[in-house]
Amino acid sequence: MGQLAGKVAIVTGSTSGIGLGIAEALAEAGAKVMLNGLGDAAEIEKIRSDLAERSGVEVAYSDANLMDPDAVAAMVAEAEQKLGPVDILVNNAGIQFVSPVEEFPREKWDAIIALNLSAVFHGTKAVLPGMKARRWGRIVNIASAHGLVASPFKSAYVAAKHGVLGMTKVVALECGEYGVTANSICPGYVHTPLVEKQIDEQAKAHGIPREEVVKKIMLEPQPTKEFVGVDELGAFTVFLCTDQARSITGAALPADGGWTAR
Ligand code: NAD
Repeated sequence: MGQLAGKVAIVTGSTSGIGLGIAEALAEAGAKVMLNGLGDAAEIEKIRSDLAERSGVEVAYSDANLMDPDAVAAMVAEAEQKLGPVDILVNNAGIQFVSPVEEFPREKWDAIIALNLSAVFHGTKAVLPGMKARRWGRIVNIASAHGLVASPFKSAYVAAKHGVLGMTKVVALECGEYGVTANSICPGYVHTPLVEKQIDEQAKAHGIPREEVVKKIMLEPQPTKEFVGVDELGAFTVFLCTDQARSITGAALPADGGWTAR
């Protein structure tokens, strides 16, 4: 029996990258998982059925577009109906756009705030009543080292991720007496499709080749000089969901290869 057997988890943005790694780790720890994210329906169904088979737990999928607050609430209702009351919410879905402030398109700002920050609020709001009533819950927000420090050309992302850290602290204060914890994990660079796309954008914004973006911009601030592994973030999330992590709440927890130690 896995240490999270019987729990129900939603992981937003889990059809790719970090979210998928976290969903895999939670399922392997025994939690039933609701996947969410955008993408090709057949590919997603394969991801869902492979994970269900491998882990032996129920795995469902919601195609909710989290830019829409009603869709966020509907996803939570669907998870409860298909899998049972939601014990764990991992707010992971996120997007990025890189550009100087004065050229930053307004619609990109709005989209990043809507997904990276507001969807965290809407999802948390939808799961908290049940978690508080059952006196157990875990909110894990995948923020970023950019929730703690800034980099140029990432105004919306840095603002949203700093916002996530603030929101997390408020939830921790409000829910401390209800057995519900809320934490932010702050990863450094992880080599996912999001970062792959960003290598090109950064190369354009800085006017340098791709290899230089990886070496001089992405890995330069990480003393380990290595990308953070998706497996590390999965294991970290599982730990935060155990009873042994019940006093860890309101925290911004770096997993950034030492980046924010400077
Ligand atoms: P990714 O692009 O690989 O995956 C993003 C996921 O979000 C996908 O499943 C995608 O379908 C989903 N998604 C996108 N728009 C959506 C929408 N409107 N509604 C629902 N789902 C949507 O990205 P990733 O690198 O795995 O990033 C995941 C999270 O980790 C993000 O919040 C990101 O900011 C954060 N993060 C990433 C890194 C990194 O280096 N990759 C570092 C720190 C933090």
